[in-house]
Amino acid sequence: MRLVFMGPPGVGKGTYASALSRRCGIPHISTGDMIREEIRRGTELGRRLREYVERGLLVPDELVTEMLRRRLQQEDCQRGFILDGYPRTLRQAEELDRMTRVDLALYFTAPDEVIIDRVSGRRVCRSCGAIYHVRYMPPRVPGVCDRCGGPLYQREDDRPEVVKRRLEVFREQFAPVLDYYRGKGILVEIDASEQAEVVVPRVFSTLESRGFKC
Ligand code: AMP
Repeated sequence: MRLVFMGPPGVGKGTYASALSRRCGIPHISTGDMIREEIRRGTELGRRLREYVERGLLVPDELVTEMLRRRLQQEDCQRGFILDGYPRTLRQAEELDRMTRVDLALYFTAPDEVIIDRVSGRRVCRSCGAIYHVRYMPPRVPGVCDRCGGPLYQREDDRPEVVKRRLEVFREQFAPVLDYYRGKGILVEIDASEQAEVVVPRVFSTLESRGFKC
């Protein structure tokens, strides 16, 4: 099962991908998480990445593609993977095809108001990356991760002015990627305007109806 999860920032890709990853035992690979980890470690590469991420801009293709290439070579990706946040440009989609085969590309959609509401309430665990929402998916203890006890924080780029920019960037860059997967006949659209409890089962049933079982 080699899957690509696509959609605007804040549509819930990470939440759906991590639910599917737990169910099927294949890795959830988020290029955003990989980039944030590099920034957190304060490496030379991390310093370069930060310049883009904090302004809501895309990181140059070659930087993110090289990080992903190394990740996909690891043993745990042999049975499949869920890519979240890559590809974001046509060039990345073409690069990905040179690295591996993609079975299905799921495109999640929701109106802008829903997205902005979700992003503004999103909180992320600093230790394990688990995702919460202050109203829709609150942790048992405010500010503390249910899974590992780590501290929750709001991403710098989840501030409203940066989210608006990220949505614009998404719209400008993304149409060719959709066309690319549509042309290959592997694009599936999923309505993600409802809560995760509704959307996650929808993801499972969509995959099952296409013959993907785990
Ligand atoms: P995300 O967590 O997927 O919303 O990504 C957060 C930020 O990381 C984005 O706004 C970009 O700056 C950067 N990023 C993540 N994935 C990619 C990618 N495939 N190409 C370029 N930039 C990326």
